[in-house]
Amino acid sequence: MSKPVVAVVGRPNVGKSTLFNALAGGMISIVKDTPGVTRDRIYADVSWLDRDFTMIDTGGIEPDSKDIILSQMREQAQIAIDTADVIIFITDVRQGLTDADSKVADMLRRSAKPVVLVVNKVDSFEKFMPDVYEFYNLGIGDPIPISAASRLGLGDMLDVVISHFPEGAGTEEEDERPRIAIVGKPNVGKSSILNKLAGENRAIVSDIAGTTRDAIDSVVKYDGREYVLIDTAGLRRKSKIKEELERYSIIRAVTAVERADVVLMVIDAVEGATEQDAKIAGIAHERGKGVIIVVNKWDAIEKTDKTMREYENQIRQILSFMPYAEIMYVSALTGQRLNKLYDRIDMVIANQTLRVATGVLNEILTEAVAMQQPPSDKGKRLKLYYMTQVAVKPPTFVIFVNDRELMHFSYTRYLENKIREAFGFRGTALRFYIRERK
Ligand code: GDP
Ligand code: GDP
Repeated sequence: MSKPVVAVVGRPNVGKSTLFNALAGGMISIVKDTPGVTRDRIYADVSWLDRDFTMIDTGGIEPDSKDIILSQMREQAQIAIDTADVIIFITDVRQGLTDADSKVADMLRRSAKPVVLVVNKVDSFEKFMPDVYEFYNLGIGDPIPISAASRLGLGDMLDVVISHFPEGAGTEEEDERPRIAIVGKPNVGKSSILNKLAGENRAIVSDIAGTTRDAIDSVVKYDGREYVLIDTAGLRRKSKIKEELERYSIIRAVTAVERADVVLMVIDAVEGATEQDAKIAGIAHERGKGVIIVVNKWDAIEKTDKTMREYENQIRQILSFMPYAEIMYVSALTGQRLNKLYDRIDMVIANQTLRVATGVLNEILTEAVAMQQPPSDKGKRLKLYYMTQVAVKPPTFVIFVNDRELMHFSYTRYLENKIREAFGFRGTALRFYIRERK
């Protein structure tokens, strides 16, 4: 199911990070071994009244002069307009209405995107409410008073936010065609790969059911099958500032990965895998998507018979949280091995949707337990009763045990390895839920 995207826009120091932390606090999914993903607060997964959405903080670096603030805010607002289903425009009651606020409000109003106007730092309703009314002048609806720092008014704000979610959110699921997102740092060759894969017979689909985002997706045909290549309009920005470019590539990855079945994680062969690659790959991993690591610009490096092995070792080390990911070495320039990507994508999708019968799973479980004794603590030993697969995309398993506390992370990983030995599941993460049954 494709989750709605909510973007937060506002001047520096109005309290965007504070709001972000208040909403995401304790709600960011903690993925062990995924470097940078949880510390980074460019995006967060939020739940409110059973509605899940992804929140993006479009505010980047801190500008220090007035005109830079305005141009930065315009840029942020444009990203929000291009990528979000709902925009939270956040202002500050203590600084009052500024000229930049009014200009950005004009821009948001013209976009016809749902905008939720939020006035922050209303720490006391009694004291500050008269000042809140001033914000009606922005002409983008009722100002909602909150205090991000004291967590006041957040529920009312979220009620309004989710009321704007598109009706058919998630109906993309009915489209059977595999959806592919191409993500990676700036300049690794994403557009080159997209253009090469799409070729001449690319058709643009701009109307995506169930979303209000301006997605520019292409449908390509290969070997009689159709694939949808996901693109995010407006995010192919060419900024000169490195931090800003990296922020765009994260926002781009989050919004594209959300809608994808398989993610092509592009790495530049000339640079090798980096921490920034790990952050982007972590987004696909957290969301349980199929992943193919595409090492591009393979034409541009000197090679010996050991080169591939060396690259693989380095990539496996940096992206250690996704040992299941496939690796392909390609060149968008020469076209080398690009067509092979389609077969790999098919394989990953087959694995993502594979269902293993409960009987077979429990044979594996019995055998695994016989080969390696489950852990025990204070004289109590873990007992594993039963395992069953409850979902696909990603394949998700529930294991019933006597005591959850005894189920050590390493034992779950051991069982995962046993399942992978039997069924492969190459290219997809697996999820495990441990339940108690007395
Ligand atoms: P950002 O630049 O928009 O991300 O703003 P920050 O979240 O970093 O907040 C800027 C400053 O405003 C910090 O000193 C916060 O502690 C303060 N702040 C944020 N929310 C509130 C609030 O609800 N009330 C008050 N009084 N201060 C706040
Ligand atoms: P993006 O920012 O990730 O979309 O990257 P682009 O597709 O714009 O490519 C960035 C630069 O890398 C361009 O100058 C491309 O010509 C170059 N490039 C892309 N793919 C390859 C490749 O396979 N080999 C070589 N040598 N250069 C490439």
